[in-house]
Parts: sequence; structure tokens; C-alpha cells
Amino acid sequence: MIFTTRFAPSPTGPLHLGHAYSALLAHDMAQASGGRFLLRIEDIDTARSRPHWEQQIYEDLVWLGLDWPQPVMCQSQRLPRYRAALDQLTAMGLTYPCRCNRRDIEAAAGAPQEGVPQFGPDGRIYPGTCRNRAMADAGAEDVIRLNMESAVRAARLRPFSETGETYNGQHPLDPRRLITTVGDIILVRRGMGSAYHLSVVVDDADQHITHVVRGADLFEATQIHVLLQALLGLPTPVYHHHPLIRDDQGKRLAKRDDARAIAKYRREGVTPLDIRAMIGLPASSG
Ligand code: GLU
Repeated sequence: MIFTTRFAPSPTGPLHLGHAYSALLAHDMAQASGGRFLLRIEDIDTARSRPHWEQQIYEDLVWLGLDWPQPVMCQSQRLPRYRAALDQLTAMGLTYPCRCNRRDIEAAAGAPQEGVPQFGPDGRIYPGTCRNRAMADAGAEDVIRLNMESAVRAARLRPFSETGETYNGQHPLDPRRLITTVGDIILVRRGMGSAYHLSVVVDDADQHITHVVRGADLFEATQIHVLLQALLGLPTPVYHHHPLIRDDQGKRLAKRDDARAIAKYRREGVTPLDIRAMIGLPASSG
């Protein structure tokens, strides 16, 4: 199987050094293995995605020296695929509609308890208020959630391979951890037709991704993805989580951190080689 990886930014802001690191590392790994590097635009969040950010992503990546096959996959064009995956999970009895807003969730979660985690990879762990609602009752006001407890019972959980320095090895999925520290994740956001976790597993499978290269901040999310792959009968790629690029104060870079935007470095006359040096990547991928 040919090594195939991807870079999957969301066009909701400028790419910064952390993105450059993910993209260049994925590209270098693909080149070193004689494989393929794909680009995917994760634009299901139409309220926050903007065509000018998408355009800037292309410009930044070309400037960094990357290329990728056309056409580029865009998530906003793929809602029927996500719908089909959701229907599969629904047919297994694993989904439910939820109308709770942030305030409802906070109120239902109650006071923090010693040793009980409150936050997971997607924010506050859902307390399960709507868990008994039927999908037949789902309306435009609802998000769709995965019943995590039923999901881990239904899935044949297998360890996944990870090659990053931080985790390197075979990682079993821990059902208890998924239930208590991740909980009932959102599969479809209100008015969006899908959500990150569902789209990403469907797309990685459809693009025949063999290796996912992403930041260590997504390690928890990866466990959700491996679970969804098991439920949907999709292959699990090898994962490589790289350390995060931090600013001078040791803080993780965010998209709104315009000071580290690639476009800003470009304007200031920094070269792509300088960028590689700044993030500790060799000058040439060979
Ligand atoms: N759109 C996600 C991001 O920009 C993709 C990350 C991934 O799935 O590897 O963080």
C-alpha cells in the first residue's frame, strides 16, 4: 500500500508555524517513503470558513514548497457521505439528538467532584441529559451525539499504531477512558450536517490515508477516530503525533495568533528555508 498522508486545515484563519510544521513534516514523510501528500480543506463549519482564508492556505503552502494532487477534497462538498456514515451508526442504535445548550450542560453537570473529569477533548463532558431521546424525534435545533457507552460495547476495539516521539508504540483503546474522559461526542453540529470527528474518519478512509500526521494535542481525538473506524468498518491508518510548536512563552500557537502567521513571515522577507530552520526541520526532504 502506498504511503499516503494529508494536511487538513480549516479555512477559519491564517496558517501559523504549527500548521507549517504539520504540513511540512507530513510532506517530508511522504517524500521519504516515495508516497503521496494530499490536501483537504475542512470547511464544514460554514459560519467560520472563508474563501479568502482558503486562498491564503493554498498560497502559503505553495510558498513553503509543497504540492499536492488536484482536485482538493473539500468537506463542504461531501455532506451526503457523512450522512451515510451517520445513518450507519444510527442503524446500530448508537446515536441520539440533543438540544442542550452550553448553559443546560453546565447546569446538569453540577458541582465538580473529586476525581471526576469535567472536560474532554471537545470541552465539557456531556452529562447525558438527552441520552434517551429517539432519532425519530431529531429536529433542526438538535445536534446528534454518539452514545459512548453503547459505542464501546458495540465496537471491536483494537490497538492502533503510533510512530511519534511522544507516544511511539501500540496503543490500546481504553473503553473506560472513552466513557469517562471523552463521553458522548457530537457527530453532527447544529445546522452543519456533520462535525469534525465523523467527517475526518470518513475522509481519511475515502482518501486511502495510510498515515495521519498531526499535533500531539489531537491524541485524545485520535482515540475517538479509531473507535469510529471500528464502528464504521473503516481501516485505521498509522498515526504520528508531533510535538506542538510553542511561542517564546511556551504557549501553544492558535490560529488567532497572527504574529506567527506564515503570511506575515512571507511579507517580512523570511524564506521557506528560514521557516524550516525555525521549526527544526531539515532544509531538504531529500
Ligand atoms: N482541521 C483539523 C485542524 O485543523 C484537522 C486536524 C486533523 O484531523 O489531523 O486541526
